[in-house]
Amino acid sequence: MSKFGTKAIHAGAEPDSATGAIMTPIYQTSTYIQNAPGEHKGYEYSRTLNPTRHALEKNLAALENGNYGLAFSSGLAAMDALLKTFKPGDEIISSNDLYGGSYRLFTKIFSDLGLKFRFVEMDEISKVESLINAYTKMIWIETPTNPMMNIIDIKAVSNLAIKHNILSAVDNTFSSPYLQNPLDLGADVVVHSITKFIAGHSDVVMGAIVLNDDTLANKLYFIQNSCGAVPGPQDCFLVLRGIKTLHVRMDRHCQNAIQVASFLKNHPKVESVFYPGLSSHPNHEVAVSQMNDFGGMISFITKGNRIEDAKKVITSTKIFSLAESLGGVESLCGHPATMTHAAIPKEEREKSGVVDALIRLSVGIEDVEDLIEDLSQALEKI
Ligand SMILES: *Cc1c(COP(=O)(O)O)cnc(C)c1O
Repeated sequence: MSKFGTKAIHAGAEPDSATGAIMTPIYQTSTYIQNAPGEHKGYEYSRTLNPTRHALEKNLAALENGNYGLAFSSGLAAMDALLKTFKPGDEIISSNDLYGGSYRLFTKIFSDLGLKFRFVEMDEISKVESLINAYTKMIWIETPTNPMMNIIDIKAVSNLAIKHNILSAVDNTFSSPYLQNPLDLGADVVVHSITKFIAGHSDVVMGAIVLNDDTLANKLYFIQNSCGAVPGPQDCFLVLRGIKTLHVRMDRHCQNAIQVASFLKNHPKVESVFYPGLSSHPNHEVAVSQMNDFGGMISFITKGNRIEDAKKVITSTKIFSLAESLGGVESLCGHPATMTHAAIPKEEREKSGVVDALIRLSVGIEDVEDLIEDLSQALEKI
């Protein structure tokens, strides 16, 4: 088994057998000629399978140390497919601090279809266990959480799920497979928004599921083909290309982020900083035990917790661009309360710490001196 960087560059990407092209070709085709009815080369129709997508799916499975990888047209489409494996009456326990779109998918779409979601703070595993009943089918977590950067103990959640014979699923978007591999820690399912660090260049929307279980994988392939939320070959090519530098990019994201976090922590106009790499982070030890490094995402609150100050800072930066999304090579800043997490009611939001003055940073791979200088001048404006 190769190490990560080698897998990122080579897994799934066989040189093209027809021409020797080293890059996986963009098979821009919807269909494939058959020699006789039903006699084909493994590809019949591109919703079912496309060679460019197939290469990417094999690569993704290898990066997460899973048997099966499935690519979807977005991260939410991947979650949608996973949720369609459940039936009305089934219950899912979810961490209370999660991506706003995931919360919306749970509460506005699948609740109406009969699934029941219970949200809970997962700092102590007993809080999760107390919600398990005969209808519980899955525990869903994000770690680090978005945007509060809480760390949930994946091993503890997985063990709990095994004990009760239910599934555990981890949204691994914030870490990417380079920093954290939930399947190795006992989780059943990993979901990614590929849009973020995996693609890494802010030019694609895509999602994925990686897992080991044959039966669940077959159900998911059936849903992928039957419902059809698949990415096109051009996007799969871009993601394969992006993945080739995932390990190099992530190293720089992490190196930059710890320096930015330390700068913010020592800044007189900053109240609190949320970054799992800081030893002051309440879950730092768990982060050390399950992550290889701490990623490029940081949240912080300006002193006095005033929304005007937060808005001033994020509109005064020159390198950090004000935008939703994260994980690209360029640094972004955002205001969760009005942007990524606006779909969550204020009361619910604030319960998990997403106050109006919270600022979220996606630290890119620019020169860190410039990033710190940029934040410094923006903080001077308040
Ligand atoms: C962006 C994101 C998603 C949704 O992915 P899309 O590709 O935008 O559909 C899910 N989870 C997390 C943590 C995200 O950041």
